[in-house]
Amino acid sequence: MHEMSVALAVVDQVEQAARSCGAVGVDSVRLDVGELAGVVPDALAFCFELACAGTVLEGAELITRSVPGTARCGACADVWDVGMPPQLICPACGNAAADLVSGRELRISEVRWADVEADAEAEADAAHVRIREPIPQES
Ligand SMILES: [Zn+2]
Repeated sequence: MHEMSVALAVVDQVEQAARSCGAVGVDSVRLDVGELAGVVPDALAFCFELACAGTVLEGAELITRSVPGTARCGACADVWDVGMPPQLICPACGNAAADLVSGRELRISEVRWADVEADAEAEADAAHVRIREPIPQES
């Protein structure tokens, strides 16, 4: 299941970050999920809970934020929401060579640590960790 591999990747990244900063628990993980990333949020939440069991993330809340897919025309620089299924032909000039600007991301944007010290909530290095984007097709 795609969502399970994403959930395991997220847990793995957060565990590594937790180890490097000595965190003893995780309150919540924020994840940016691109509209075109092929991830179903409910399924991901379910898999995340399973993937967290027995790790430092046990009981952590997963907060997902949907990122709309947008594309930019290489010819006329028009930018539009591609929607679903993605519309990759420029609505302004008909050029088909659009660059996807956003919508495929799967990115940990914030981790809140449950630290021993009450006020030690810190944003993780994980904020800049990118999960390998799982979509194989380029066009
Ligand atoms: Zn165009």
